[in-house]
Amino acid sequence: METAFHDTGRFGKYGGMFIPETLVPAIKELESAYYEYKNDPAFMEDLEYYLTKFAGRPTPLYFAKNLTELLGGSSIYLKREDLLHGGAHKTNNTLGQALLAKRMGKKRVIAETGAGQHGVGTAIACSALNLQCEIFMGAKDVERQKSNVFRMKLLGAKVHEVRTGTRTLKDAINEALRDWIINVRDTYYLIGSVVGPHPYPALVRDFQSVIGNEIRSQIQEYSPRLPDVIVACVGGGSNAIGSFYPFIGNKTISLVGVEAGGRGLKSKQHCASLLAGSEGILHGMRTYILQDDYGQISRTHSISAGMDYPGVGPEHAYLKDTKRVKYVECVDRLAVDAFVKLCRVEGIIPALESSHAIAYAMKLAKHGNKNQNIVVTLSGRGDKDLGIVLRYLQKERRIK
Ligand SMILES: *Cc1c(COP(=O)(O)O)cnc(C)c1O
Repeated sequence: METAFHDTGRFGKYGGMFIPETLVPAIKELESAYYEYKNDPAFMEDLEYYLTKFAGRPTPLYFAKNLTELLGGSSIYLKREDLLHGGAHKTNNTLGQALLAKRMGKKRVIAETGAGQHGVGTAIACSALNLQCEIFMGAKDVERQKSNVFRMKLLGAKVHEVRTGTRTLKDAINEALRDWIINVRDTYYLIGSVVGPHPYPALVRDFQSVIGNEIRSQIQEYSPRLPDVIVACVGGGSNAIGSFYPFIGNKTISLVGVEAGGRGLKSKQHCASLLAGSEGILHGMRTYILQDDYGQISRTHSISAGMDYPGVGPEHAYLKDTKRVKYVECVDRLAVDAFVKLCRVEGIIPALESSHAIAYAMKLAKHGNKNQNIVVTLSGRGDKDLGIVLRYLQKERRIK
């Protein structure tokens, strides 16, 4: 293999590119496009145009006054990615990568999706930018997520139902990779989080860093100081790294990533890869993964589909080992409690993913100092989760 890459894509010992030889030219082409366009003012201007005029950036930083008063401790601020077009932070990345695909001269974009959120985000960006869009989705997920499948189709995407293996996300990933290898010339593979081989973890982080950059300037409307704590949920890790990255050098700011504790870490029904996983290689990267003694990927569980991934972005693995970011977990029950609380108290229906971060921030605020500021990234809105929460509350006999 010639080594004409710009970078090895390592975060300490994590990251890298563990890919079949057939994909090396495609990854190399993507990497050089990434290095070219990230310093290209015309590209950045285009991206800025779509992020503002089409997707509604900047999203507000909202002082959660009612919640703060109720808890009686530190102040809580919400970074409102739920108000971004598409209903979550995913649009920051799908617009960025779709624009990159266009600049690279690709006509066709493929993506894989589990719960369907990334598929919808990709379909939105492709429709806006006139790109052909094809989404791979496990047959089981297609059945479970009918309304997202319909959304994708309305937005003009073709949805491939994957009937191999467990017929879920990992099989859809395999199928998307197979397609990419065959159609690499005209096809762009759009990954939905800070995962996969280099350069995806860095590229997706850069597109999501708009979240943290806005937090940095918006907090000044409320306070002369930068935030004391920033909290975000971690599935693959993109909304969290996007929130944290611009603050990594400010060592006094405490950064907290919240993983899905599911039914508790002891139950083994969770997706806390950083807290309970071990080092390994998955989807082209070295990182923390949930695996058995033989290296087989463990089954995961979370009440929130967007958190349900057995790995995590390699930069988070590095930030955990170097202790720059603290990682904690939040179980299903506490996430649902936070979901209900935010609806009642603030008039905001948060995504279940984001509710994990809100739960932890509430705990911090309650015991925290009054002049401390906590920023929580509200990664998305919860309309998609209403059915799940309703069934959960009924099962717990908290409502009829
Ligand atoms: C997809 C999703 C997540 C998880 O993805 P990250 O890459 O960890 O950010 C979190 N929140 C919402 C609303 C999502 O749609």
